[in-house]
Amino acid sequence: MLEVKDVKQTSPAKDYIWGNDSFADHEQIVFCSDKETGLKAIIAIHNTTLGPSLGGTRMWMYKSEAEALNDVLRLSRGMTYKAAISGLKLGGGKAVIIGDSKKDKSEALFRKYGEFIESLNGKYITAEDVGTSTSDMVFVHETTNHVAGLPELMGGGGDPSPVTAYGVYMGMKASAKEVWGNDSLAGKKIVVQGVGHVGEYLVKLVTREGAKVFISDINIEQLNAVAANYKAEIIAPDAVYAYDADIYAPCALGATLNTEHINALKCSIVAGSANNQLADEIVHGRMITEKGILYAPDFLINAGGLINVFSELEGYNRQKALDQAKQIYNTTLEIFKKAKAENIATFVAANKIAEERIMAAKK
Ligand code: NAD
Repeated sequence: MLEVKDVKQTSPAKDYIWGNDSFADHEQIVFCSDKETGLKAIIAIHNTTLGPSLGGTRMWMYKSEAEALNDVLRLSRGMTYKAAISGLKLGGGKAVIIGDSKKDKSEALFRKYGEFIESLNGKYITAEDVGTSTSDMVFVHETTNHVAGLPELMGGGGDPSPVTAYGVYMGMKASAKEVWGNDSLAGKKIVVQGVGHVGEYLVKLVTREGAKVFISDINIEQLNAVAANYKAEIIAPDAVYAYDADIYAPCALGATLNTEHINALKCSIVAGSANNQLADEIVHGRMITEKGILYAPDFLINAGGLINVFSELEGYNRQKALDQAKQIYNTTLEIFKKAKAENIATFVAANKIAEERIMAAKK
């Protein structure tokens, strides 16, 4: 028999779940499992102070369950901030389905998933995200009403990208006002990285205003089509960062604002739609500020998609969604003012405003 002194402490004092910082401020996490359909999903409800939590369902081949959990916790927290800064009566939530979106989808899987959402009685509302589509949401809708992002024919808002692009455009104009004292983009040189759903609409808006647009994309067909339609100039993907432009608009992937790329940037403003643009919020948020580049916080200026989905809950009206996305202009200026007054980075100012709104609602 082992003596007490021989027994090694194998479990760390800090629990994986309750001691995990990402988990700590979440209200509820639901693990969904169904053998028949192969469903394995996690729904994370971060905060419902301002309203029901809303966030899309991501379907991804996570390497492990821990990776899926970390992702959903990070994403759901981000949704709370995005809704709060946008003045929406929504909380933050997100869900992930572990699986291959090309092989593992079925109507039965999405119906079953809808049943889990239904069991939360409206505390979580889903929509599409990476790996899921409007048509998947139609299946989810068969077992729950707590779903947005439905096709226009079903009373939904359809593709949110035009509204997202409009919000980014508003954030970009507010940034121009802050830097040059005038919000006109006429004559400005703008690099748009990624001319997919959002990027293409953004190119359309800024071209219409007389900006000189430079585009890059790894999808050559799409790149050529956008270049031809809007007379934009094509540049190589790796030429984007050091390009001698006034504005860099990341509309492809996240985390492009890393040390190497920030060092290369020659622009005065970064304003784009990609989520999580700062590779490390603290390190690169500070670095870009110290370099004197104005960074328009991504989660604020790309909130048009969320605004569009929110509009669906109240009876969809595209004009109303666009009008609300227009407010991004004023909120962006408010954030710049706060950042200047408190000598803090713009993303910190945005976070603070979002937190203040939630705290005020709690009181
Ligand atoms: P999308 O897939 O339609 O477009 C992305 C484009 O980027 C594609 O054409 C792709 O080929 C290109 N791309 C990928 N890697 C690239 C690279 N290294 N260099 C250049 N181009 C590259 O996606 P989207 O819906 O337009 O969204 C764009 C970004 O905005 C994403 O980060 C997305 O998360 C974010 N966002 C989108 C919405 C929305 O309403 N669609 C809302 C909020 C945030």
